[in-house]
Amino acid sequence: LKTPLTVITGYLETILDNRLVTSHGVRAVEQALKQSGRMNRLLQDLLLLSQLETTAPDPNPTQLRVRDILDHAAREADEVKNALQRENTEIQVISTSDLCLLGDWNELTSAINNLTSNAVRYSPDGAVIELGFLIRDGDGLLIVRDNGPGILPEHLPRLTERFYRVDNSHSPTTGGTGLGLAIVKHILLRHGGTLEIDSTPGRGSEFRCVFPGERVIRNQGAVT
Ligand code: ADP
Repeated sequence: LKTPLTVITGYLETILDNRLVTSHGVRAVEQALKQSGRMNRLLQDLLLLSQLETTAPDPNPTQLRVRDILDHAAREADEVKNALQRENTEIQVISTSDLCLLGDWNELTSAINNLTSNAVRYSPDGAVIELGFLIRDGDGLLIVRDNGPGILPEHLPRLTERFYRVDNSHSPTTGGTGLGLAIVKHILLRHGGTLEIDSTPGRGSEFRCVFPGERVIRNQGAVT
């Protein structure tokens, strides 16, 4: 799938760059190029999901500073913000935790990036997005909170199903694949964790990645 898609995309770019179609054809080729980009994103997400489902998690996870994970997520969220021209959206890291999480850097940053990218994409310009970390009953909670549109309660149980998207998110600006939260759920599963979602329509959403206490490290020891 990847190879033919790369070839198709290459030809479409050549047609546009060299103006090989009349002005009437340009729009059609642009649309085809846009859809091939979308297909490419779907393919990348599907490959990642199948890799997460079919490979064993790392038996020797790395000690990762929560602060580094949150700062990385804030930088990535800034990029999404700029790409979508949400100049007035604020990204705030509200935790100063010096704790560590045992896990895989690429997987955990990918999970939290998915959540922050959703928060930016689905909230209007000027929204406030908070990234934080806290301990609850010994578990570690990575939190992404927004004051965006929120999600109706009937959708919440289905959000982590693959390809599930809430109707109003089919607008072209959000450009998602419907696989983001399925990926987050699988990454958390590989870390012994779960995803909790609270949302109030009109007020905003909170996504919590819950990690068992033995994955949270302080002063060389697990938090209990
Ligand atoms: P995608 O974003 O690619 O559509 P996801 O699996 O990441 O897929 O999200 C599923 C759906 O959940 C989205 O289509 C959107 O309707 C809803 N959603 C996710 N995050 C938020 C959020 N922060 N605020 C409002 N709706 C959200």
